[in-house]
This record gives sequence, structure tokens and C-alpha cells, in this order.
Amino acid sequence: MKDNKRRFETEVIHSGYQPNEHYDSLVPPIYQTSTFTFATAEQGEQRFAGNEEGFIYSRLGNPTVKILDERIAALEKGEAALAFASGMAAVSAVLMALTQSGDHILCSKGVYGCTYGLLQILKRKYQISHDFSLMDSKEELERSIQANTACIYIETPINPTMKLVDLQMVAEIAKAKGIPVVVDNTFCSPYLQTPLTLGCQVVIHSATKYICGHGDVIAGLAAGSKDLMEQIARTTQKDVGGVLSSFDAWLLLRGLKTLPVRMDRHCENAEKLFDFLKDHPKVEAIYYPGDRKHADYQIKNKQMKKSGGLISFTVKGTKETAQRFINQLQLIKIAVSLGDAETLIQHPATMTHAAVPAAERKRMEIEDNLLRLSVGLEAWEDLIEDLEQALAKI
Ligand code: PLP
Repeated sequence: MKDNKRRFETEVIHSGYQPNEHYDSLVPPIYQTSTFTFATAEQGEQRFAGNEEGFIYSRLGNPTVKILDERIAALEKGEAALAFASGMAAVSAVLMALTQSGDHILCSKGVYGCTYGLLQILKRKYQISHDFSLMDSKEELERSIQANTACIYIETPINPTMKLVDLQMVAEIAKAKGIPVVVDNTFCSPYLQTPLTLGCQVVIHSATKYICGHGDVIAGLAAGSKDLMEQIARTTQKDVGGVLSSFDAWLLLRGLKTLPVRMDRHCENAEKLFDFLKDHPKVEAIYYPGDRKHADYQIKNKQMKKSGGLISFTVKGTKETAQRFINQLQLIKIAVSLGDAETLIQHPATMTHAAVPAAERKRMEIEDNLLRLSVGLEAWEDLIEDLEQALAKI
């Protein structure tokens, strides 16, 4: 069977790795080395000049990390991919590679708190401006694009409001204007959504989340065309230096093998918890792409394989009510991050999006009584019992 015919469930296990190239080791080895030796000075010269294949120094490339790069490229259907020390290292390397002083970045209406922080740095120090756009119609998008818009940056689902952006619609308009579209695909993983196949140019992940799946790594990824990934590898990855270690790459390769199985269970559990929460008298509003009443339900059907493992909801009451509620949970852990085996809940206004000024949070519709639930892999009945007893106490 040709490699390019293999299915996702096979690719997560085999892509990028051949045992016979590594002493027949079934599992990829960890190349725990900072540097690589050259047989001669001339060989070193040729490798630096790019005239000879081979590794040089692990910030410029490492065999274990390369296996991960190739596997992610296959899963995201890109020509190439790069691994970073964190999701934010990936976001910053991509945005810095695509922009220069005087440019403009158009963002979806809501981004992760630290991405918001990075946008402020780019604006303050490098005069790279940004705006947030609803991206809910062609007309609105056309109006929001400026003459100096150098890239469009999208989260979908948006963290933590769970609004969706129609990627194909944005990609078509951006293509006509020659503007690259960058998508943070963290909430979906390539199992649920592949933005490159919808016409977008770059996919980013906080691989800390579903791709790792076990809550024990901080990592980031970017995938796209070979040319752009090579450019980033030579510039904002190599020279800024936020590269992934070989051990963390190995842990991600291990986590990836079960991604489809885990994602199916995350999605099934989330459906059960949504069914419980949606009519609960203490729940004010609920935001979940699988909700038929969700404003973007049709977009979900168009571009996501399933509805994902995240649910946001407001409890009736104030910020303090929301805090009292999560303090009562016994099984579900209060923690930022998502995509782990453990079910996690967090309070965006004081945690992941605390750095976003209150007025901007309001515009992004992050209410003070909003909670974000990352549904884990436990028995859904136990999770519902925990939510039920905690809700009964507020
Ligand atoms: N993008 C999204 C949507 C996130 O939720 C996060 C982290 O929570 C990041 C990017 C940043 O990733 P990391 O924490 O791995 O740097």
C-alpha cells in the first residue's frame, strides 16, 4: 500500500519512521545529543552550506524531532512541519516569520490569552498592528482586511467562547488577496479538523494538549508548505531558538499513537456532559459546537469530524458563584490546559485570559461567570455525578 493511501489511524503510528533505519528498534530512539560530529572539516563546511544532508546541532535539527515533524506533516496534510518548545514558541515563530514592521494581522474574535499578549508585544515594539474580526460573513471579512494585512490568524473553535470560523470561506477571500491564513488547530487536533485541506496556509498546535494527551509535555507545532517551513527553520526557529527536546518529541510520538482513540472518547464523553449541563437549572448558557442550537453548528458539520472535547458554560450568578462551584468539584481538577486524560476545569477571566484587559474580554464575550471544561477520558457517569453534587451546592 502506498504511504499516501494510508488512513489517519495508521499514520499516527507509522508515519515518518522505519525501524530498519534505526537498528530495527520498534519504537523510535531518543537521540539525546546536543551536537553531531563531522568526519572532516570539509564535511562540516558542506553541511553548513546545505550541500550535504545530515545533522549539525540539535537546535538546527535532531533525528527524533525529525520523525515527529514528518508525522505531523502527514497528519495535517502539509508538505512539512516543525516542532517547538511550546505552543507559544510556534505561534511567535510563525507570526514573526510572516510579518514585518508596519504590517497588520487580522485575528478571529478571540484568541488564547498569551497569543493576545504576543500581539501586544508585536504592536508595541515592532509596530505590527492587529484587529479582531467576527469573520462571520464575506462582507465583514472583506471590510476588515487592510492594505497592509500580512496574515490572517484564526482560532476555531475560539478559546474559550467556542465560536467557530468558516475556514474555507476565509481561505477563499484571503487567497484572492494573496494573504496567508494561519490556524491554531489546538482544540481539534488533526483528527477532527485539517485546515490545510480547506485552503489555509499554516496550522499551529499547542501540542501540550490533545497531541500529547497525557499532561506531561509543553510543546508546539507548525505545519505548511516546505518553502515556508524551511524559511522558519532557518530564521525564527533557529535564531530565536524555541526548539523541542528529543525526549519531549519522543513523548509526543508516543502520545500520538492513541490520538484517534482518545479523541473519540473525549468527544463521546463531552456529548454526555453537554446533555447533562444543557438543561441544568443552575447553568445559564452553554457553548459547545455539537449543540444543534449553537450559532455555528453548520460550520461544525462542514469542517469538523466531531464536536470536540471542550464545553464552555456560564453558571447563574457571578464570578464568585463560578469560583464556589469549581471549588466543590472532587474528581474534576481545577487546572488550565486541556486535552488530558483527566477532566479539567478553569475560569478564563481570572486564568487563561486574565492578561486580556476587562473591556477587551467583554468584547470577546468572556463573561466573569464563564467556565471552560476540558472533558477527559474518565467514566462519564462519574463526571456527571461530580458536576451534579457541585452544582447542588451553589
Ligand atoms: N493556543 C491555544 C488555543 C492554547 O489553548 C494554548 C495554551 O493553552 C496555546 C496556544 C499556547 O500553548 P503552550 O501553552 O503550549 O505554549
